[in-house]
Amino acid sequence: MTELNDQALVQLRGVRKHFGQLEVLKGISMDVHAGQVTVLLGPSGSGKSTLLRCINHLESIDGGRITVDGEIVGYREAGDHLREMHPREVARQRRSIGMVFQRFNLFPHKTALENIIEAPLVVSRRGKAEAIANARELLRRVGLDAWADHYPSQLSGGQQQRVAIARALAMKPKLMLFDEPTSALDPELVGDVLDVMKELAAEGMTMVVVTHEIGFAREVADEVVFMDGGVVVESGPPAQVIEQPEHERTRGFIRSVL
Ligand code: ADP
Ligand code: MG
Repeated sequence: MTELNDQALVQLRGVRKHFGQLEVLKGISMDVHAGQVTVLLGPSGSGKSTLLRCINHLESIDGGRITVDGEIVGYREAGDHLREMHPREVARQRRSIGMVFQRFNLFPHKTALENIIEAPLVVSRRGKAEAIANARELLRRVGLDAWADHYPSQLSGGQQQRVAIARALAMKPKLMLFDEPTSALDPELVGDVLDVMKELAAEGMTMVVVTHEIGFAREVADEVVFMDGGVVVESGPPAQVIEQPEHERTRGFIRSVL
């Protein structure tokens, strides 16, 4: 099991979430340390996306708590219970957490560069010249310096996803969440996106990645967390969880995605 350590950048303690009668997260605890990569594995419907969405408060939680960099996400302490934060405070917290989805969700009527400068300009009121210079540097990092003025429809899925990653990085997040970032891509485009993510990991970004790419998990993850039915079944380094899983459910899942 994960050693629960107060120093972790991301801490989940007993996180619960239900939709109506359906209990989707049944008390999830985990730590993600600064500069580390956690890969979340699990069958469809096990609660992986919901968990990511709770970490940046796209979903509220019904129990437990989540802290990022020492701050409770989405709530403030009020006596012995938690009260939902003001939306402005939530927005401030969310700015430090980048998220990349399966579908790239770029603005279709904006170029790659315009997509990347949008949030920094609107939200942080940074100077436009600085935002553009930063966006060009990010496009270079994701291998798309020549594509700044192209619209999403003129880019491949893999290129769009790399723009989406650059867009998230433009807010200088301290944490990046990835929800099956390569699942919607043609197989030949997956590698370029994974390479960008590997580089980001090597540069020390803290990342939580939901993916079925076992090769990526093996190579990049510091910790692999296997979820099923809203609980953490087992977690540990890839050499343990992927190569020598303790639980039959984990073994079955790993076999099914290899
Ligand atoms: P995963 O990402 O592991 O496939 P999800 O977190 O998307 O799993 O979903 C877990 C369960 O919660 C599924 O049964 C799903 O149908 C349900 N669920 C997810 N989001 C909602 C929602 N907004 N309303 C109702 N049920 C939901
Ligand atoms: Mg999902």
